[in-house]
Amino acid sequence: MRPGTSVQIDLGPAAFKSQSLVVNVRVLIDGPSELVFDYALPHGWKVVVGCRVRVPLRHKLATGTVLSISEESEHAQTDFTLRELDSLIDPEPLMNETLLKVGRWIADYYACGFETVVRSLLPESVRNEGNSAKTRRIAVLVKLPNEEELDKISRRAPRQHAILMLLSSAAGQRMATLELGKGADAPLRALQQAGCVRIEKEEVRRDPEADGVMEVLESKPLKLNSSQQAALEAILASVKSNKPKPQLLMGVTGSGKTEVYLQAARKVIDSGRGVLVLVPEISLTPQTVRRFKARFASMQDEVAVLHSHLSQGERFDEWHRIRKGKARIVIGARSAVFAPIPKLGLIIVDEEHENSYKQDSVPRYHGRDVAVLRAAFENSAIVLGSATPSLESWNNAQSGKYELLRLDHRADGQSMPLVRVVDMRVESRKHKGSMPIFSDALRTGLEQRLEKGEQAILFLNRRGFARALSCPKCGHVCECPHCSIALTYHRTDERLICHICGHQAVVPRKCPECKDPAILFQGFGTQKVEEVMAKLMPQARIARIDADAMKRKNALRDILLAFKAHKIDILIGTQMIAKGLHFPNVTLVGILNADIGLHTPDFRAGERTFQLITQVAGRAGRGDLEGEVVVQTATPHSPSIQFARKHDFDGFSEQELEFRQHFGYPPYAHCAVLTSRSTHERRAEFTLQTLHTRLKESLPKGLVLGEVLPSPLLKAHGQFRFQLMLRAGRARTLSSHVQGVLKRTSLPEDVTVVFDMDALSFS
Ligand code: ADP
Ligand code: ZN
Repeated sequence: MRPGTSVQIDLGPAAFKSQSLVVNVRVLIDGPSELVFDYALPHGWKVVVGCRVRVPLRHKLATGTVLSISEESEHAQTDFTLRELDSLIDPEPLMNETLLKVGRWIADYYACGFETVVRSLLPESVRNEGNSAKTRRIAVLVKLPNEEELDKISRRAPRQHAILMLLSSAAGQRMATLELGKGADAPLRALQQAGCVRIEKEEVRRDPEADGVMEVLESKPLKLNSSQQAALEAILASVKSNKPKPQLLMGVTGSGKTEVYLQAARKVIDSGRGVLVLVPEISLTPQTVRRFKARFASMQDEVAVLHSHLSQGERFDEWHRIRKGKARIVIGARSAVFAPIPKLGLIIVDEEHENSYKQDSVPRYHGRDVAVLRAAFENSAIVLGSATPSLESWNNAQSGKYELLRLDHRADGQSMPLVRVVDMRVESRKHKGSMPIFSDALRTGLEQRLEKGEQAILFLNRRGFARALSCPKCGHVCECPHCSIALTYHRTDERLICHICGHQAVVPRKCPECKDPAILFQGFGTQKVEEVMAKLMPQARIARIDADAMKRKNALRDILLAFKAHKIDILIGTQMIAKGLHFPNVTLVGILNADIGLHTPDFRAGERTFQLITQVAGRAGRGDLEGEVVVQTATPHSPSIQFARKHDFDGFSEQELEFRQHFGYPPYAHCAVLTSRSTHERRAEFTLQTLHTRLKESLPKGLVLGEVLPSPLLKAHGQFRFQLMLRAGRARTLSSHVQGVLKRTSLPEDVTVVFDMDALSFS
C-alpha cells in the first residue's frame, strides 16, 4: 500500500474485523463466593494473568485477580457487551513466569481448568485485597534539640521531653508509637511540627510463631559419616549443575537424611539462593520443622513455615515475605510447592512416598511430581527422600532418569529393630476362634516395657473404607482370579466385586479354603483398643491419637510433647503418626492388624503395607536402646510383610515391580479414575456409562478402558458413586482423550464427574 492512501481504504473488511476483536479478561472476584466474570480490556491497557484489578460489579466496584486473557471477536459473543475493567490495582502480577508455566502444565496434565489452578497458585488470602499488609506507626528522631532547649521543653512540655529521651536512647533512634505509651499522639504531633521527629509507616509481620513458643536454640551441624558425605556432595554438585537431574535419597529410617538436607540447605542459602522443603503434613512432622528452625536459628526471619493453621493475615505476610526474598527457606506441605521463592536453588521432598502429596480435590495434582517439574523449569536441584520410596520414583532411579543416593545404615550406629511377625490365626485358635486384639507376644512385650520404664507405640492400620472378606481361622482372603487383588464386599447386594475388572462372585457362607463358617470381617477402632488396653494394664498411662482426638487445636502437639516427656507409656494411633517422629525411649512398636491395608481393592496395597511396617518399625529403637517390632497378621506369608521383616526394600521392589509390569499397573502405565457422583444412583451410573461409550468410540491405541463399577464406598455424603479406571503408557494420551470426551459431553446437572489422573485412591 502506497503511503498517503486515504483513510477509507485503510478501513477495509480485514481492518474492520481486527478492530472488533475484544480482549476478554476473566476475573476472579475477591470474597468467599469466588465469583468469576468476564470483562473487556479497555483499549491500550496491558494486563497479564495474576494482575490485581478493580471491576464494576452490579452497581459497585469490586476487586479481583485476572485468571485468564483471551481474544474473541465480537460476533462470537451474545447480544450483550462486556463491561470494561475499571482500573488496575497493580500492574505487577502476583505470579512469576515459571509458576504460570507450572500452572499450565497442571491444567493440561490433570485435565482441569487453568482457572482452578490459578486459585491454587494464589491462595485466597493473597488474592484478597482485604488482607493487606499490617502496618504500624513509627516515630523517628530527626534532630535532638540542644541542652538549653531540652531544658525548656522539660519544663514546658514534660511529655514531649520524655518522648525525646526515649527516642534518643533507643537503638536506631526509632520506636513504634505504641511503645511510647498512651496519650503520646498530641506531643508527637508537636514534636513533628517542630521538626524533631518524623512519623513513618512500617510493615509488621504477623508472626505465626510469635507467642507461646520458646526461643529456639541453634543446632550445630554434625560430622557426617561417609555415606552422608557422599550424598551431600552429590546434592551440592547437582545444585551447581546448570541442568540438575532429580535425585532420590533412599535412606533407612534413622540414617541421617534430615542432617543431609540441613547441610545442603545451608550451602544453598549461603550461596544466595532459596530452599523449598516439602513435608507430607506440617502438624504430623513437627520434628522436621523444629530441626530446620534450630539449624537456622541465627536467621529465624528467613524461615517461613506455611502451616494450614495460619490466619489469612499471617499467610498473606508469609507469602509476600517469600516473594520479596526475605524468607528464603520455606517449609510447607503440598501447596507450598507454589511458594513464590525467587532464585530457587534446591527443593527437598521429604517422605516422597506419602499419599498426602496428592490433592484430593480439583486440581488433583501430586505435590512431588509438580515439584520435579518446577525444579526442571527453574533449573533447581531437587531431592526426593524416603526410607521406602514410591515405586514410581524407584523405577525412575533404576532407569537412570533420577540419580540414586543411598544411606543403608542408621547414623547413630544402631542396628535396625528386630521385627517379629505374629500369626494371628494361631492366636485366634488359642482363643477358641475369636480374634484377640493383642497377641500373647505383644502383651508380654508391653508388660516388660512398662516394668523397665520404656515406652511403646501401637499402630492400627486403617487404610480405606473397603473391606475384604478374610477368614480368621486360616487367613484366606477372597481374591479376584484375574487381577490378584482382594475382592470387595458389597453389603447392599451381598456380592464380592473386583474393582479392577468387574469380576463378581457370591459371598461364601463358609471359608473356601478351610471350610470354617466363621469367615467374617476383622475390624476394630483405636477407641476399642484403648479400652481393652486400659483393662489389661490398668497401671499404664495411655493416650490415643486419631482424627477424633485431633479435633482440638494443638491436641496432637500436646500429646506428642507429653509422650516425649514420658508422661505417657503407651501411645495408640493410626498410621498418621508413623511419619518422622523420633522418640529415643520407645523400644517396642506393635502393629495390630497389618493385614487390613493388604486386602483393599488397590494394586498398591502391598506397597502400602510394606511402607507402613517399615516406617512404623523405624520408630523403634532410635536411642541407645534396642528396638523391637511386633507385627500381627493373619497372612504372615505375604511378601510385603516378609520383606519388611527383613528391611529388604530391594527384594520387595523387585518382586512388586514384576507384578506391576505383568498386569500393566504403574509405574509401567499411568492410571486414572473417572468418578461420577449423584444423589440419584441410576443417573450417576448412566452418566458414567455414557462417558464409557464415548471414550470407547475413538479409543486411542495403548489406552486400556475398564468397566463402570460402583465405588467401594458406594455412597458417601449422601451421594452414590461410580467409577471407571483407565490406564495408558502415555499420560498425555489419557488426559487429552478424557478431556476431549468430557468437553463434547453435556452432563446432567445433578451429576458430578471427577477425573483423577495418577489416582492414588480408589475408594
Ligand atoms: P532420618 O531423617 O534418615 O530418619 P535423622 O536425620 O533423623 O534420620 O537421623 C537420625 C538420628 O541420627 C538423629 O538423632 C540424628 O541427630 C542422628 N544423626 C544424623 N547424622 C548423624 C551423624 N553424622 N553423626 C551422629 N549422629 C547423627
Ligand atoms: Zn479382577
